[in-house]
Amino acid sequence: MPEPVRTTCPYCGVGCGVLAKPQPDGSLEVAGDPEHPANFGRLCSKGSALGETMSLDDRLLYPEIDGKRASWDAALDHVARGFRETIAAYGPGSVAFYVSGQILTEDYYVANKLMKGFVGAANIDTNSRLCMASSVAGHRRAFGSDTVPGTYEDLEQADLVVITGSNLAWCHPVLYQRLAAAKEKRPSMKVVLIDPRRTMTADIADQHLAIAPDGDTALFAGLLRHIWENGIVSKTYIEKYTQGFNTALEAASEFSPDRVASESGLVVGEVEAFFQLFAATERVVTVYSQGVNQAVSGTVKVNAIINCHLATGRIGRPGMGPFSVTGQPNAMGGREVGGLANMLAAHMDIENASHRDLVQRFWNAPRIADKPGLKAVEMFQAVAEGRIRAIWIMATNPVDSMPDADAVAAALKACPLVVVSDVVADTDTLAHAHVKLPSAAWGEKDGTVTNSERRISRQRAFLPLPGEARPDWWQLAEVGKRMGFARAFGFRNAAEIFREHAALSALENAGARDFDIGAYSGISQSEYDGMAPFQWPQRAGEDRRRTRFFSEGGFFHADRKARFVPVHPQPRDVTGKDYPWTLNTGRVRDHWHTLTRTGKSARLSAHMAEPYGELHPADAARLGIAEAELVRIESPHGSVVVRALLTDRQRRGSVFVPMHWTDRYAASGRIGAVAAPVTDPFSGQPALKNVAVRISRFAAA
Ligand code: SF4
Repeated sequence: MPEPVRTTCPYCGVGCGVLAKPQPDGSLEVAGDPEHPANFGRLCSKGSALGETMSLDDRLLYPEIDGKRASWDAALDHVARGFRETIAAYGPGSVAFYVSGQILTEDYYVANKLMKGFVGAANIDTNSRLCMASSVAGHRRAFGSDTVPGTYEDLEQADLVVITGSNLAWCHPVLYQRLAAAKEKRPSMKVVLIDPRRTMTADIADQHLAIAPDGDTALFAGLLRHIWENGIVSKTYIEKYTQGFNTALEAASEFSPDRVASESGLVVGEVEAFFQLFAATERVVTVYSQGVNQAVSGTVKVNAIINCHLATGRIGRPGMGPFSVTGQPNAMGGREVGGLANMLAAHMDIENASHRDLVQRFWNAPRIADKPGLKAVEMFQAVAEGRIRAIWIMATNPVDSMPDADAVAAALKACPLVVVSDVVADTDTLAHAHVKLPSAAWGEKDGTVTNSERRISRQRAFLPLPGEARPDWWQLAEVGKRMGFARAFGFRNAAEIFREHAALSALENAGARDFDIGAYSGISQSEYDGMAPFQWPQRAGEDRRRTRFFSEGGFFHADRKARFVPVHPQPRDVTGKDYPWTLNTGRVRDHWHTLTRTGKSARLSAHMAEPYGELHPADAARLGIAEAELVRIESPHGSVVVRALLTDRQRRGSVFVPMHWTDRYAASGRIGAVAAPVTDPFSGQPALKNVAVRISRFAAA
């Protein structure tokens, strides 16, 4: 029997190592990799059910043009010609790529190189925009770079872990298990959960603050004032390593405990208890995720959290720091190669002329994008308005997952050229594709992903490519060649792409940047094949393997100092007379995105068999809604009909609906159609946690 293959789970940003062992009967045995530093052998329900999701029943196995099977040559020629002709007629800004945190770093690298260096526009964005863009913007404002300062180990070493806007127990289960195990061993450790819902994460919380939607801006601004008034700030750290403290403090002075309580929907006593615990505990990690990021004030909230850690110097040391956890398996890898419309490869800055020059010369590119491109929501609006006339969508399903999803569907319907690369044959997005390209799935392709703690791990192929499926990087490179850029896109395998990516990250004179994996720029194919998980940075010739950043400053602004960002009151109440309730969206434990993979496992589907609207029983009584009754949830953009789930875990005045179900799996469960296309002005991230809706009993016609 062959040895199991070491690979990485394709679901969440924890990035667990998996041992995958194909069986003679065609099934797949999976186990947690005991040597992987993210999980040390653990797997959650989704990871351990990977073997149940591998069937080829619903796979896209051959290219198609206008619904008819085509050869790869014909399909790639068609795509290249379509993009070339669109650019010739309407300019480089008339085409776009919309990619995904599901694709591998090597795929992302080639997509970004083709769009930014050879098309010469920056209209490449990703569904990671919906996941962590506010954290990126907040990091860049505070640190001068998109750097996550800490590691998973910090959560285990902390004396206080503050979890805000994250149902870690369901969305990052193995990280939650590590935290729960550490707390069990060391009962003096405290956990505070800040979330409008009393989620399963509350099981290990010593305090749960059932905060009003977006009330965390005021909470963390008030915390800065509290730690100043109580003499907890580190004057040495502030003076040596930061700028702007006084301005931030002046803004924070508006946030008295009374005001914080009123803006956050909490009572003064519980606010003060949290402040006192934070102030009294040196080793604090603040973990945050989509509940912080997916807001109009997402970036402001990120900076409000970082301000408190900078003010106390509690950053980059064991058991301390702000810690953004990413939702998707490769949200971080996409950031490293510039797979966002406002970034350049290797954490360089698209608006910095010397960075553009370096990247252009390195790629020997005919041009380079010189301004940020369209971010996800803007991109589909541009498609609707006819400004984008050719779009290539890869490994994502925006017709279900984007806010104002019906408008996205209408936009794609009217778009002259829609290309979709996917592993499955039928999604609501594929329904609009003129060209369908079959992609290699997990287990069939090679490459790397980066998890939330900056750890790069290999995904390895252990199955043959089915039908004519091909890796995404190969599809992009073939189109690049057919657009006239044969030399730049002559990659023969993923290792060659990784080497180029590593060499680009190590360019000299690229400014004081954090991301550098130059130690890997010369690795051989066999070293790539055997690559063990590692954290960046890994500079060539440098012995010190740094696992944490910023304990002694060294930020990436020109003066090497961090920036405090003043936080002012933010509008938060989106409701009105016609739409008086707040919709909150999120994940459930056993499903992933729009169910294309987890929907295949009966075991996973048994956890939650259908979409639901979670309401507080008192709100349901007011609306005359009974348990399990069908309810309509409606915004000006669209509506869904879901079954009512009544629990006192839900905050009054709001309803929670999971994001996973589409109309293919439930009568009417596409929550993206209800969400408004409202975004954070700094990050462009949609505000999917605080949408004004009305709720009514559903009476079938
Ligand atoms: Fe996969 Fe995330 Fe579960 Fe780990 S915690 S097994 S990465 S889904």
